[in-house]
Amino acid sequence: MRDIDALDGDLRQDPDFDEVGETSLRGVLEQLITDLGEDVTREGLLKTPERVERSLRYLTSGYETSVSDVINGALFAAEGSEMVVLKGIEFFSLCEHHMLPFFGKAAIAYIPDKTILGLSKFARVVDVFARRLQVQERLTTQIADALQAVLQPRGLAVVTEASHLCMMMRGVEKLGSVTRTSAMRGVFRDDARTRQEFLEALR
Ligand code: ZN
Repeated sequence: MRDIDALDGDLRQDPDFDEVGETSLRGVLEQLITDLGEDVTREGLLKTPERVERSLRYLTSGYETSVSDVINGALFAAEGSEMVVLKGIEFFSLCEHHMLPFFGKAAIAYIPDKTILGLSKFARVVDVFARRLQVQERLTTQIADALQAVLQPRGLAVVTEASHLCMMMRGVEKLGSVTRTSAMRGVFRDDARTRQEFLEALR
């Protein structure tokens, strides 16, 4: 798990950090804090609009990137057609209904045809779509569709499991409950044995 201090540390090293002046988002956040009944001029809150803006820009930075940017040519000729399974890919996203975090892990499997993708790139493709305002179902589908288009594999599967703070904090969902969504393409959709092999690898 990333913690907030580490996140702030990363942002402080960002060369653009000091160059962000007054922005309309900053003003909106000041207004928001005021409307919630707080005094935006008190010590603890003075820099909060600025911090929240930076944090939100980072958490939605997927809008500024694309799958082709992150893949950046890391495609190679496939030497076989064995199933590749990656699991435990952490992601953090914001639900589009409440703008509260949902977070968890993604698992991706594919059976190559002619092309494979560098292993480190899968997590980056997940982030392109996770760092936006999302619903979990669409996040899962977008990851699958993007990888399907790039790899044109014999089959591809994506499963995400996530906890939603908008449900947990408001008591709609019990703490610790997890939502799972999946997207199956090609042989993972059409062949029960292939799908089963993947789902067993997730246990
Ligand atoms: Zn929500």
